[in-house]
Amino acid sequence: MTHSISIIALDGPAASGKSTLGKKLAEQLNFLFFDTGIMYRAVTLIALESNLNLQDEAAVTQLAQNTQIEIRPPSKEDGRAFDILVGEKDITWEVRRADVDANVSVVSAYAGVRQALTEQQRRIGLRGQVVMVGRDIGTVVLPEADLKIYLDASAEQRAQRRYDELIARNQPADYAEILKKVIERDRIDSTRAVAPLRPAEDAVILDSDQLDREQVFEQALKLCQ
Ligand code: C5P
Repeated sequence: MTHSISIIALDGPAASGKSTLGKKLAEQLNFLFFDTGIMYRAVTLIALESNLNLQDEAAVTQLAQNTQIEIRPPSKEDGRAFDILVGEKDITWEVRRADVDANVSVVSAYAGVRQALTEQQRRIGLRGQVVMVGRDIGTVVLPEADLKIYLDASAEQRAQRRYDELIARNQPADYAEILKKVIERDRIDSTRAVAPLRPAEDAVILDSDQLDREQVFEQALKLCQ
């Protein structure tokens, strides 16, 4: 396998399987796996915990500028791929909370929030040997990526995946409710003015409705070689 490919951008809508694919690719290539969604989730979580008015763009932007988000190797074997820390607080699982899911698209639509987080992501990405996962990696964060993959799937398929994940973690889940939220998050993510969710012109589109996990991985790996 050649390693001439160093920066891989992996974008797509919520629950399309980006994280699973990104993690596997990074492992196989011995690259860093970096999931940018957790940065938007961390800012949203801290804003909720501080009882900040999420409609107050200036206040949320200031929070994003002042929040130091640390990603470290996993300190526990509880299924996490890494630790997410803000200060000394471990927020690895809290960023997956339903109230974060419901509010993260509002926070991530703010231009100032995106600018603050994009700068940090770009700095990490340009070091190379990285699989960076998000919505705007191929279009905005790392347009010079060597390989851009856009992983798509129908809203129904993605809602089913989220539902299965929650059930596997013994958490309450309502398929119809999840589907509604997936569609709403897609709508906000793809219609926002700054860095909307869309494939880069030079992205390869993989559709995981047509392919199972293993096939998606094999196709992506082929693109890396
Ligand atoms: O990928 P994940 O579902 O964790 O992302 C959470 C949210 O963060 C997305 O719905 C989107 O609003 C935002 N996001 C973004 N740009 C990225 C990654 C995530 O706007 N690069």
